[in-house]
Amino acid sequence: MSRSRLPRLVIVGRPNVGKSTLFNRIIRRRVAVVESSPGVTRDRLYHEAEWEGRRFEMVDTGGILFTDEDPLLEQIRTQAQVALAEADVVLFMTDATDGIMAADRDLADSLRGIGKPVLVAVNKADNPERDSWAAEFYALGIGEVLPISALHGRGVAELLDRVLELTPESAEPPEEEQRAARIAIVGRPNVGKSSLVNAFVGSERVIVSETPGTTRDAIDTEIDFRGEKVILVDTAGLRRRGKVQGSMEYYTALRAQRAIERAGVALIVVAGSEGQTHGDKRIGKAAHDAGKACVFAINKWDLVEPPDGRPKKRSEAKIDFTKDVRDHFPELSYAPLCFTSATCGTGIDAALQTCLEALENSHFRVPTGALNRIVRDATYDHPFSRKGRPLRIYYATQSATAPPRFLMFCNDPELVHFSYKRYLENRIREEFPLEGTPIRLEFRSSPGKGHARRGA
Ligand code: GDP
Ligand code: GDP
Repeated sequence: MSRSRLPRLVIVGRPNVGKSTLFNRIIRRRVAVVESSPGVTRDRLYHEAEWEGRRFEMVDTGGILFTDEDPLLEQIRTQAQVALAEADVVLFMTDATDGIMAADRDLADSLRGIGKPVLVAVNKADNPERDSWAAEFYALGIGEVLPISALHGRGVAELLDRVLELTPESAEPPEEEQRAARIAIVGRPNVGKSSLVNAFVGSERVIVSETPGTTRDAIDTEIDFRGEKVILVDTAGLRRRGKVQGSMEYYTALRAQRAIERAGVALIVVAGSEGQTHGDKRIGKAAHDAGKACVFAINKWDLVEPPDGRPKKRSEAKIDFTKDVRDHFPELSYAPLCFTSATCGTGIDAALQTCLEALENSHFRVPTGALNRIVRDATYDHPFSRKGRPLRIYYATQSATAPPRFLMFCNDPELVHFSYKRYLENRIREEFPLEGTPIRLEFRSSPGKGHARRGA
């Protein structure tokens, strides 16, 4: 089974040339066009984007976490290595107002001969006069030069056109594969991701096939679980050694994000025997922001709970741990917890089953009548007003699934407060099987009430 992956654009350039500005602009554009991911964070390293109906992936190397002590030259080498390892097309960003700097030359030198198309985007060309400044960058001898303004959007469409001309055509995954349940196994190194995959595969289940995934970052393993085809997207077992130092966390986060984007449900693995760390938080938030169903596997539970542990102690430990996880991942309050031991083989089937249920819930469709009844009751029980103006919700409807998304037509979206949104979300959750899936509430001015304002 071979499957193409999305073409990948890697953005490189010294600090402050405008990499993240461009990245964010392209994300917004994509969101505006396909309207699929509200609430994406702006600090992402990796994102899927779409231009002219073609999808591609973007990597912003500006997101690599360097420390202040890391010399610029090292940062540039690391970027070049990322480009070499990841890119189909490299977008080399420079700054028209600075002209060619020493660091631009270093970066050009390290990109020379990597055998990939390079586009030189000369940024901050905010007006036509500055376009002419861009020509000097041909002196770098690295690739075609395009003046752009990431801030104002000048030249960005032309740039993306060029990017797509240079990227290989990608085929959408076959429909069969889109239907299979895809579970991304994510988490910090050493929490037991590979061990869990091995446990999931188990001896009693048939491995239909094991193929390297669509990227070099993850291994896809296909299993049959209770008659259902399940694909495990495993980010473990891949370690980048040696040269790219200090960017381990970057790679972990990047891989996790990618695996998550390709999956329907994220199994966030946390080691029950250790406290959580920053890395976990970031991965959990990425799964939530991507709108995927989420389940926690609290692994290495054998180390917390001795097999002969007294029943009372066991349940106490579970309660304590659940509380910790809830405190640590506040946005993931809907994600169920599974307690597993990959090495002892406990909790394994339950974890898979929970993932499949969460995935199914993310496709749930709430009947419109029932939804409106709940919203009406909820607003009746707790009316809400701000600055003396009552919020009125006239009509609610579900506009999408995976994740379920609800449009609420109201008198003024700006009246909606975060806490009230949370309250309505909880009321909806109480009535329908939505465990394990994020849901989105979006408020719009009611049609016919004049301006179509969007907000909240
Ligand atoms: P990065 O370090 O390469 O990711 O750079 P940033 O995206 O953080 O941008 C650095 C600074 O340049 C910010 O203050 C941006 O507002 C500014 N900037 C980015 N793009 C443009 C542009 O097209 N024109 C102008 N004038 N400023 C820009
Ligand atoms: P990964 O980096 O997340 O893929 O973690 P691994 O699967 O490589 O596991 C890291 C270490 O933890 C290995 O030594 C495993 O044997 C151990 N380990 C994994 N799962 C469990 C578990 O459930 N219980 C115990 N006691 N050890 C585990």
